[in-house]
Amino acid sequence: MIYRRPSYYDTFRCLGGACPDTCCRDWSVVPDDDFLAGCAAAPSPLKERIARNLAADEDGDTCFRLDERGMCALLTPDGLCAIQRDWGEEHLCAHCASYPRFIEEYGSLTESSLAISCPEAARLLLEAPRFTLIETDDGKADPPFDGIDRTLLDGLEQSRAQVLALLDGPGGIWHKLRLTLAYAGQLQARIDRGRYGEMPACPLVLSPPQDNPRRQAAAVQLLHVLSGLDPLRPGWPALLRNRAEQLARLSPAQYTALCVRYAQANPVCERQAVNLACYFVFRHWHKAVNDDALYGRAAFVCAAVSALYHLCLFQPGEEAALWSQFSREVEHDEDNLSELIWALCGGAPAHLL
Ligand code: SF4
Repeated sequence: MIYRRPSYYDTFRCLGGACPDTCCRDWSVVPDDDFLAGCAAAPSPLKERIARNLAADEDGDTCFRLDERGMCALLTPDGLCAIQRDWGEEHLCAHCASYPRFIEEYGSLTESSLAISCPEAARLLLEAPRFTLIETDDGKADPPFDGIDRTLLDGLEQSRAQVLALLDGPGGIWHKLRLTLAYAGQLQARIDRGRYGEMPACPLVLSPPQDNPRRQAAAVQLLHVLSGLDPLRPGWPALLRNRAEQLARLSPAQYTALCVRYAQANPVCERQAVNLACYFVFRHWHKAVNDDALYGRAAFVCAAVSALYHLCLFQPGEEAALWSQFSREVEHDEDNLSELIWALCGGAPAHLL
């Protein structure tokens, strides 16, 4: 069995009460059966507090109640979880104990990462000198692949490694994303024809690197599309609309000047964009093994990097918070994610870049 994770994965520590946001807000957390079965053993008065704050969600699942501010009712005024504080971390439900870590399993391959919806995970990615992966192999025999097309997974493995190397290599981020998208288009054509046993190599040069004069207008459109998704927090679509309007009001010269000022204010913005793109590629590329939809996922990666770059232009220094908000609103909402992927498949995502 092969295990992979980003190099910064093991350094993650929850900020607890010092977190600039909290994962105990807005999300309906459904505790696992083991947690529910063990609640009776919690010390009083925590046991009674837990019992009071379990409710049925819209699907009929038992979840932790949210208060009128959208905060988990078990969150204490000091920003700590009452279960963790009064009973111990080992008694957290599986969901809360694992967040922001997540695991994807593809038969004999297990990949772990940290969701950047957590601001601390976003900071680790933002500040990583490079996005590198650590791989270990326990030498045990592969378990059977259940419903996974091994040939397609092998093709995704090879192609993703090439894309990660491309993104981490020389060249500007927009040119490298354009190459990624063009490559994903070639791969998708192979997948659609069932010829993914022989995936082509990633093109090293598509065209001379050029700046896209339409990127500003494309970003305005993209921010409007994002603002139409179902929001988790009401301030998110308003922020997107405001930024789209601000961006639309800039003349081409003002837009260029804003990009230059941002690069001066944040000299590592190119590295940050590369790390972000690598994170999205690592997290989403292989999911095409479940539905064959690779091109849409590559388009999502490009759209996410473009949207976040343009939001950060107006808020230099707040990159981690913006990445985290985007991830909460889009990556963690399956409906929003698939709506965006399908919207991008129908458009012309290369113009974003
Ligand atoms: S969002 Fe991250 S750092 Fe903040 S409380 Fe949750 S796990 Fe901890």
